[in-house]
Amino acid sequence: MHSSFQIGKLMGIPIRLHITFLAIILWVALVFGTTSVPLFGSDYGFGNVQPSSVRWAYSLAFAILLFVCVGLHELGHSYIARKFGIVIRSITLYFFGGVSAMEDIPRDPRLEMQMAIAGPLVSGVLGIVCIAAYYWTAMTVGARRPISVLLWTLSIINITLMAFNLLPAFPMDGGRVLRAWFAEHMSYIKATSRAASLGRMFAVIMGILGIFSLNLLLLVVSFFIYIGASEEERITSMTVSLDGIKVRNIMSSNLHTVSPDVSLTGLTERMFTDKHRGYPVVKGGSMVGMVTVEDIKKVPVDLRPTTTVGDVMVRKIYTIGPDEDASAAMKRMGELGIRRLPVVDGGNLIGILSREDLVRAIELSHSR
Ligand SMILES: [Zn+2]
Repeated sequence: MHSSFQIGKLMGIPIRLHITFLAIILWVALVFGTTSVPLFGSDYGFGNVQPSSVRWAYSLAFAILLFVCVGLHELGHSYIARKFGIVIRSITLYFFGGVSAMEDIPRDPRLEMQMAIAGPLVSGVLGIVCIAAYYWTAMTVGARRPISVLLWTLSIINITLMAFNLLPAFPMDGGRVLRAWFAEHMSYIKATSRAASLGRMFAVIMGILGIFSLNLLLLVVSFFIYIGASEEERITSMTVSLDGIKVRNIMSSNLHTVSPDVSLTGLTERMFTDKHRGYPVVKGGSMVGMVTVEDIKKVPVDLRPTTTVGDVMVRKIYTIGPDEDASAAMKRMGELGIRRLPVVDGGNLIGILSREDLVRAIELSHSR
């Protein structure tokens, strides 16, 4: 969230760039500016393009176009998701691909399958379009002209992107298709854990191949697949166990609030006696902020008696309604990196939901 910035909007969806992607653009330009592999009558890579100024210009243009292609791939997923009424908050491009932030996806295998296929399909179509354009330039200006090399390299990379994403290595697109297929025959949790195990297996194989071929990119990708598979398996099992549970059922309605005029020393003492780590800050009956242990820690000990809650509280408040799903609350806390959400009903603060409440609910549902 913090290390990415918005570069524009497409189909009304904010497109964001992660800073790692900027580094990778230069790296891609460097790699493709120094490689040249003769392939079916043209070159893959710009290593043979002369003079060097033209070579680097094309190599950089290629790197930027590659990132546009990755973005279009991701937009393909989002397009289908939106057709089914899922709200896409943003698309962030990381160094290894795109990630769409979308609202809770309904656990519908058919929808998931279509969504997962859409990205590789876009890459495949882009590949074919580039091949067609390449043949046209090859016939008019020559197969080894920089523009032909650019189109040829782009077509190969798009076809590779398609094939690679279709590997049944969850959480990659192919793995999602596989999960959707499993989910038609067994429970969603079981389908996810089976797809995740396969994903991890693929990751290990890729990792071993990466080590033996000294391919750093393969090694990094295998690492991300391994972590991604485990992480999604964990989140899915948590979300499914919160099914049917509303915020109202598990929130703490025994409200402890604090006034903005209280000193931080006073608040620390309250925390000790109440055994609470965070409080909604209430002034004149309405909520004005949130204060947590972390906010106190930012102030040096000797300044705490003279600093008030109002000075350090977080004014931007995220809330949740009592009738929203507990899984939605979990998702929001995860995305915002916060540990508690005030529960507000018709403008009134009626409770607070913490991560501990969620964990307790998940544990209880497992013992059900
Ligand atoms: Zn994809």
